[in-house]
Amino acid sequence: MPACPSARTAAPSILHANVTVGPDGHLLFAGADTVELAKRYGTPLMLLDEGRVRERCRTYREAMADHLPEGSLPLYASKALSFREIYRIVEDEGLGVDVVSPGEIATAASAGFPLERAFFHGNNKTDADIRYAMDEGVGTFVVDNLEELRAVEAEAARRGRTQRILLRITPGIDPHTHVKITTGTVDSKFGSAIETGAALAIAREAIAQPHIELCGFHCHVGSQIASAEPFLEAARIMVAFAAEVKDALGFETRELNLGGGFGVRYTEADPEVNIAANIRELGACLADACAEAGLRPPQVFLEPGRSIVADAGMTLYTVGSVKEIPGFRNYVSIDGGMTDNPRYTLYQSEYTVVLANRADEPAEFACTVGGRCCESGDLIGEGLAIARPWRGDLLAVLVTGAYNYSMASNYNRICRPPIVIIRDGEARLGVRRETFDDLLACDC
Ligand SMILES: *Cc1c(COP(=O)(O)O)cnc(C)c1O
Repeated sequence: MPACPSARTAAPSILHANVTVGPDGHLLFAGADTVELAKRYGTPLMLLDEGRVRERCRTYREAMADHLPEGSLPLYASKALSFREIYRIVEDEGLGVDVVSPGEIATAASAGFPLERAFFHGNNKTDADIRYAMDEGVGTFVVDNLEELRAVEAEAARRGRTQRILLRITPGIDPHTHVKITTGTVDSKFGSAIETGAALAIAREAIAQPHIELCGFHCHVGSQIASAEPFLEAARIMVAFAAEVKDALGFETRELNLGGGFGVRYTEADPEVNIAANIRELGACLADACAEAGLRPPQVFLEPGRSIVADAGMTLYTVGSVKEIPGFRNYVSIDGGMTDNPRYTLYQSEYTVVLANRADEPAEFACTVGGRCCESGDLIGEGLAIARPWRGDLLAVLVTGAYNYSMASNYNRICRPPIVIIRDGEARLGVRRETFDDLLACDC
């Protein structure tokens, strides 16, 4: 099924339905010719398939409406990809957002996002962050720890108002994903652990604060999780905790936020995660757990980031030098790398790559794709296979919508690429390419 009706699906899709090959061997993304886009906008170039983003938003919204208590809502975790237009798109789809910094709040605000639907995360909100978020009218703070709780109470008191909060709880679950994206174990910089008694203690203190309205609890167990089980386990633990809080403190949990983390398909080896089926299972599990614990089922929030934008993204690069080192390996160098996609450098994340101007040729050239930075670790991947590339060819890296642009840097004084949004086959700029003037804008 093509993501867009104008897609010329001459060949079967590659990895995802929005990636196809045209009759001239050009790679098509969301029905648009990547070779033409690269000519028009230059490389490196980030593409975003708006139809796919919207489709994923709807999948979450509909499944949550069908299988979770009334008022349940997905919140787009905007750290995955944050720029103005993405907030407009998710707002149009009726989602809330999760923000983790004043910069993300400022971006959402400038997009006209209704910030009462924003949840403010982070394990170290500064006093200035707290003031700024209240100035901007952020609806809910997800409070990480006791000092922060006291700082939020103090600021709300100073303003003579009440601040809605959730408390971030550490459920003590290992979701068996990469250690750097595991966030729900007791030994974590995030949240208050149930196991140590810190969670109950902070709940007791939150309830006692006159300018805090405690609405419920939050947890986030990790990212790129392929199965429903870690979410079900988190749900059971959080319901048991809510029951403990009710018994000990007489507080009834109205909202439960189970965070993000659904995985996506980066390579043929990754499974396609069935979001709707997982949410159905989660709904059944929560209903059972609440019935058993004698709790009224709370409103549920989920915070998908990666699974909203990852496969809606693709990056195009121009091939530069191709170095064959006999007895070792072949290096293909591109005009971007860790500055626009640091995920291989950070986590050895795997990607699927395709030679975009000759996507119909057999992928028989084994290679390592390297970036242009002065770092040996600046790689996009190793053990990859593409058609034999030559200088000037176009290389596509698939599934780069999440944690690429949002993690980009100006290392080596490299300008960030633009983001071009494709909708119904039409391309428009979402973010323009950086210039040297942008690089120098803060220099005195
Ligand atoms: C990163 C994060 C998310 C999003 O995780 P994904 O794996 O991108 O879905 C959601 N909630 C919190 C608190 C996070 O830190």
